[in-house]
Amino acid sequence: MSLKLNDPQLYDLIEKERKRQVEVLELIASENYVSDEVLEALGSVLTNKYAEGYPRKRYYAGNEVIDQVEELAIERVKEAFNLPIDWHVNVQPYSGSPANVEAYFALLQPSDTVMAMDLANGGHLTHGSKVNVTGKTYNFVHYGVSEKTGKLDYLEILKMADRVKPKMIVSGFTAYPREIDFKKFKEIADKVGAISMADISHIGGLIAAGVHPSPIPFFDVVTTTTHKTLRGPRGAIIMCKDKYATAIDKAVFPGMQGGPHENAIAGIATAMKEVKTNSFRKYAEQVVKNCRALAHALQDFGFKLVSGGTDNHLILIDLTNKNIGGKDAQKLLESAGIVLNMNMVPFDKRSPFDPSGVRLGTAAITSRGMKEKEMSKIASWMAAVITDPSVAEKVRGEIKRFTKNFPAPGL
Ligand SMILES: *Cc1c(COP(=O)(O)O)cnc(C)c1O
Repeated sequence: MSLKLNDPQLYDLIEKERKRQVEVLELIASENYVSDEVLEALGSVLTNKYAEGYPRKRYYAGNEVIDQVEELAIERVKEAFNLPIDWHVNVQPYSGSPANVEAYFALLQPSDTVMAMDLANGGHLTHGSKVNVTGKTYNFVHYGVSEKTGKLDYLEILKMADRVKPKMIVSGFTAYPREIDFKKFKEIADKVGAISMADISHIGGLIAAGVHPSPIPFFDVVTTTTHKTLRGPRGAIIMCKDKYATAIDKAVFPGMQGGPHENAIAGIATAMKEVKTNSFRKYAEQVVKNCRALAHALQDFGFKLVSGGTDNHLILIDLTNKNIGGKDAQKLLESAGIVLNMNMVPFDKRSPFDPSGVRLGTAAITSRGMKEKEMSKIASWMAAVITDPSVAEKVRGEIKRFTKNFPAPGL
């Protein structure tokens, strides 16, 4: 309450953002609504504490309680992902990007060859994009999806691996709507003697809930953000086989980071408690069901989906047949209260600043209790606005009334 009193300017901005989050359909595939408990942990006095090092091996005094918080978070991650006893967890990465950089730093030498998904095909910046530190440090060679199916072509990935002999193969995706065959990835890595790394940032919650196959226990290292489908605070986790534990821990601290954000780690701890519940499992199942329903409804309105559908929480629409670019579609839909992001589609002929597609996901709206019935409604609103931009204003009002029936957690 003191923000309202002592910093009304900032308070008003936060209130405006809260209102925006309540009133729109949040379809950005990487976003979600955290619980009151996660917000409480994030806003706690744990933010005051310096705790460089690891539980029971700190460089600062006064960490008796902090050690227990971090150990609790680690324990709960192990349970949430059903980790075998010979697996190790680091909960200190500040976010997904540093977690990936730390994993590379731990396991690779500069200029080592790494295979990962191409950015335009749905990889992440930290998978060796030219503009990213990872692309400047290591020799990334990129695979993509098949032009014909829009899906991963494991035979092509194997051929590439045979040719370039990578030290590591990364399987991780920000805009890939299909199930990933981690077993195949591991087979390919084994064939060429590469380290296998999975970046499950987007699908972490689906994997923990058992609605998507897991790369654990057969992969070497797994990174994930905690704020996407896992519905925790902004942060990340690195999980690895014990033999990499020392290298990973050293790479996180002191290799790349200083003091861990223990308030965020506390947020991870309480989020993982939620993840282990039956209601989270049901939530994750519903995320996938909703996404399928939304995909079918969009197809009924003539939207073209990359790969022809979805197996997870996200959909990639190729707007080429709708006579609108991704950038204009994003802007137009936002004016109607439908929030998503423009995105490259595989083999895109347009630029990243105005690509041919938009990406959308069901993680956040499912947290508000929406089900299949609501998905058809959303698809019809999207179709109406794309077909006739003049209805955007009217749709915005309808969505504002509609979202009132679906209270968002934490808001
Ligand atoms: C979101 C994401 C990241 C990066 O996470 P940030 O927290 O934004 O740094 C890394 N990899 C993948 C696959 C992601 O989806």
